[in-house]
Amino acid sequence: MPTDVPNRAKIEGRYNVLIVGAGYSGAQAAAALRQNQFPGSIAIIGEEPDYPYERPPLPKDYLSGEKAFEHILVRPPAFWSEKNIDLSLGQSVVHVDPKARRVRTREGATFGYGSLIWAAGGAPRRLSCAGGALRGVHSIRSRADVDRMMSELPDVRRVCIVGGGYIGLEAAAVLSKTGKAVTLLETAPRVLARVAGTSLSRFYEEEHRAHGVDVRLNISVERIEGRNGRASGVLVAGRHVVDCEMVIVGIGIDPAVGPLLRAGAQGVNGVDVDALCRTSLPSVYAIGDCAAHESQYADGQRIRLESVQNANDQAMTVAKVLTGTPIPYQAVPWFWSNQYDLRLQTVGLSSGHDLAVVRGEIPSRSFSIAYLKEGRIIAFDCVNATKDFVQGRKLVEARARVSPRLLADVGIALKDLRADIAA
Ligand SMILES: Cc1cc2nc3c(=O)[nH]c(=O)nc-3n(C[C@H](O)[C@H](O)[C@H](O)COP(=O)(O)OP(=O)(O)OC[C@H]3O[C@@H](n4cnc5c(N)ncnc54)[C@H](O)[C@@H]3O)c2cc1C
Repeated sequence: MPTDVPNRAKIEGRYNVLIVGAGYSGAQAAAALRQNQFPGSIAIIGEEPDYPYERPPLPKDYLSGEKAFEHILVRPPAFWSEKNIDLSLGQSVVHVDPKARRVRTREGATFGYGSLIWAAGGAPRRLSCAGGALRGVHSIRSRADVDRMMSELPDVRRVCIVGGGYIGLEAAAVLSKTGKAVTLLETAPRVLARVAGTSLSRFYEEEHRAHGVDVRLNISVERIEGRNGRASGVLVAGRHVVDCEMVIVGIGIDPAVGPLLRAGAQGVNGVDVDALCRTSLPSVYAIGDCAAHESQYADGQRIRLESVQNANDQAMTVAKVLTGTPIPYQAVPWFWSNQYDLRLQTVGLSSGHDLAVVRGEIPSRSFSIAYLKEGRIIAFDCVNATKDFVQGRKLVEARARVSPRLLADVGIALKDLRADIAA
């Protein structure tokens, strides 16, 4: 445990609000409760030893060394005691008793609650193949993960990244910029296949290749080769070995909801919540990456979002509920990703689109893509095009019906297209 973090592991007792998970959503929920004048006792139990911090910088400016850890904290350390929020760090909740309204930690402490907010995020998926646990194989979920990687990097010349999602691509950008030889392996026929349209995937593949990253698609990993207990290469289908000294695995997370589901909460992919973030257990709420809600932006389907926007807005929702002013969660999803000098901002959810309209010239590296379904706008991906992101958001919220021809005309600002919205 870092010396500047008080060891509060001995704090036990009954809290009006007990939060499990000292990550972004847990921290924001506690802060929002105080902002909304919640007078009762609040404690946060967190598995990690650190004060709550933001994860987005981990594969970006924290990995590149441009941001120190104290600059990625959600709040300054003094905030928590000033707001009378108890932090119990380095403890993992393993059991929830919804009848007695108590939780127990692996370390043996018991905490009672009036209301429980489950904000435990998720654990990075590991490779199930042989060699997945060798030294030199890393995930990027926590500060500790990145610190471990950074301590090894001086001895690393070649990095193999498994997974072409946002985290893998961001790490590829930082590491290739620092001179490492980076190979990126993706099982799907394109990067970002789960979250973006084909044109955006192709654009990012080309950008990474232009920066020297060896992007390989349609490739599955058979095993990690090792030498003296350390990863030395990745064997891919076809019996070819990609030699490397470090492997980074970015293949998604498994929501951390085991204790809640064992206590009887409903959920398949994470834990199910309603529009007020209530689980099926009495007085138990769930927020952030681990919570599955029905989204109007996904045609009412139950989805889990892994984004700062969702973590923050669900934290606000639960704080409002617990201070007597419930407002159902309906926020439009948005996200960002920084790679090289490209700032991608997305709004809405593009999956299921039947038409993609490009605004601007993709080679200019400043453009946006509008996604439509049955004639209505459902999402925008904006690359170095913040104005479109800001203005497009309203069109997504309205599920506006806009002529594709007008949408493609960069001479017309998106805000002026509203006049062309047909009912
Ligand atoms: C590397 C990375 C880059 C990202 N980049 C972006 C980005 O650019 N833009 C964006 O919008 N989003 C990004 N995200 C997503 C965003 O950071 C998450 O959506 C957000 O952190 C979710 O907050 P959370 O509170 O749900 O989970 P987390 O922040 O993961 O916090 C959960 C906490 O709960 C703890 N915990 C788990 N189980 C237990 C237990 N049983 N007992 C006690 N504590 C427990 C965990 O250790 C963790 O500290 C990124 C995420 C990662 C990992």
